[in-house]
Parts: sequence; structure tokens; C-alpha cells
Amino acid sequence: MIDLRSDTVTLPSDEMRDAARDADVGDDVYGEDPTVNDLEARAAGVLGTEDSLFVPSGTMGNQVAARTHTERGQEVLCERESHVYRWELGGLVQHSEVQPRTILGDDRGVITPEQVHDGYVAESGHEAGTGLLTLENTHNSKGGTAISPEDIAAAAEAAHEHDVPVHLDGARLFNAAAALDRPPAEFVEPVDSVVFCLSKGLGAPVGSMLAGSEEFIERAHRNRKLLGGGMRQAGIIAAPGLHALANRDRLTEDHRRAERLAEGIARIDGLTVQSPETNIVLVETDEPAERFLEACKQEGVLGVPFDDHVVRFCTHWDVDDADVDEAVAAVERAV
Ligand SMILES: *Cc1c(COP(=O)(O)O)cnc(C)c1O
Repeated sequence: MIDLRSDTVTLPSDEMRDAARDADVGDDVYGEDPTVNDLEARAAGVLGTEDSLFVPSGTMGNQVAARTHTERGQEVLCERESHVYRWELGGLVQHSEVQPRTILGDDRGVITPEQVHDGYVAESGHEAGTGLLTLENTHNSKGGTAISPEDIAAAAEAAHEHDVPVHLDGARLFNAAAALDRPPAEFVEPVDSVVFCLSKGLGAPVGSMLAGSEEFIERAHRNRKLLGGGMRQAGIIAAPGLHALANRDRLTEDHRRAERLAEGIARIDGLTVQSPETNIVLVETDEPAERFLEACKQEGVLGVPFDDHVVRFCTHWDVDDADVDEAVAAVERAV
């Protein structure tokens, strides 16, 4: 079975398993795990932030960020198809008691400075005011689109004009950086905090990093604890994360394979393919997505439904060129 459901299905390499076994560990709730501390310092270094915090998942990273930036009752501006709004169980409302106000991005998920100004609400006797803008890169629901540092900066500057902080959900930030051949820090410089996942294309078994200023991370630490994310000898899971972070240049291979997959599927009658910008391939089918995926599964390839007639296939490091060619053949048989 060729599993193209997500880049989260990758299995840890032997190197990662060895690193987990051999890791120096301590109690991270006391800040005494040397491997976690090393990972946090390195992630901050790559992103150009003062500090970072190891969290169990990207979802927790986003939720901790929202809780840290906002006050109860405020509004949070987010793109209508963004992960933090759509795919985190309404966590903004549950954990931060804030009210999301959505902005409809363009077909790549980009929101403009004008839209940020329009969405902004000033605090008054009747309105709680806007407490945060969230951005997403790559934009998952739009098919892994790689949004430029300039587009990120433009939206962020608009928020900053109103003294509203900006959080970047960069679960796949390194995919964007690799696709546009720009340093990751350029995407982070305009924002106040950022999350990225070690556990997606970078291949770690678990974990994400939340990064920002020293003062922000200090407060985020308390909120991680509040949400149950304080971990003890976490170096065991941080050690594979160090390997994952070092793996980021490999993502261009996933992107090349996504293109190969898209080109193959585009030649099949009855399917429309969105040209991939990173490692996500969205395919539109005449058949209902679920039925199409069932047929694909019979032929040996897995994807996930994304909309009534749209499915997602994702390339990752457990998929090689031969797998991609076999996947195209399987999809053709399924059709
Ligand atoms: C996967 C993802 C997350 C959440 O990460 P988890 O580690 O699965 O909780 C957040 N945002 C985006 C855009 C994602 O793709």
C-alpha cells in the first residue's frame, strides 16, 4: 500500500530511534532536559527568534500561542480555511475564550493588508477589540501553497499598525522556505510568534516548536503547562526532532515528487489536478471523493478526502520515485 494520506505517516529512521535511545535527559518541567534545551536553542537559531518551546503537537503550539497573545473576549482574525479556525475543534473558543473573525483569503490563502484593516475592531464600550491575527504557511487547505515573506509581511504590518500581534501557523514553514528558496527566518521576521511541526515532512515521530521573543516564550511556558503539555524526560522525543530539523533541505525531493505525481495524474481522463507548490497534490474528481478514494485503496494507494469532490495526496520521505509512478498507475486503474 502506498500511503499518500499525509506527510505525518512517515516512520522514524534508524538514526532517530538511536538518537532517542541515546539522548541525555532530565526533567523538562524544571527546564533540566539538555536535549530539549538544545532543540529549543537550535530551532530559535534557524528561525531567528530569541527563544522557542518544544510542544507535543502543532495544534497545542497554535493554541498556546493564541492563549498567550490574547485576553478573554477579544477577537482573533484568521483566514476562513485556516487550520487554527477549521481543524482544531474550535480550540480558540475553548482554550482562549476568544471570538474568531474570519477573512476570506484568495485561492492561495493569501490575505491582503486591506482585509486586515477591514477586519480589525477597535476596543470600545461595545466591542472587545482584536487581539491577534493568525496567518498560515504553507496553506494546508489551499493545497500547500507557499506564501512569500512579502505577503506575510504585508498582512503582519497591517495588524501591527493597530498594535495587534501576529502568529504564523507554519506547520509546514520549511516547505514554503524550500519551495521559494528563501531562509526560514525571512518568513518569521515580520511576525510575533510561529509554530512549525517536526512530525510532518521533517519526519520526526512527534513534536512541534513554538518560537518567539524571550518574554513571549516565558509566558507560553505557563500556558503549555495549563494545557497539559508539560513533559518530563522529553529528550527521548526531542532527540529525533534534532535530526528532523537537520533534514529540512530534503523537502525539495518531496516537492519534486509531488510535481511528478501531479503530472502523471493530470494525464488521466476525468481528473483535474491543481499544480502543486510544495508536497500536497489536490485532485478534483467527477465521482464523490469518498468513492474515488475507496477505488484507489482497492488499487493500492491511499489519500484523504478534502471536499465533496476533492482529494489530497501528500508526498513524504517514505515515498520514492517508483512509488510515485506506481501511485499514478493505481489511480488510473481506479478511475
Ligand atoms: C498539521 C497542521 C497543524 C497541526 O499540527 P498537529 O501536530 O497535527 O497538531 C496546524 N496547522 C497546520 C496548517 C497543519 O497542517
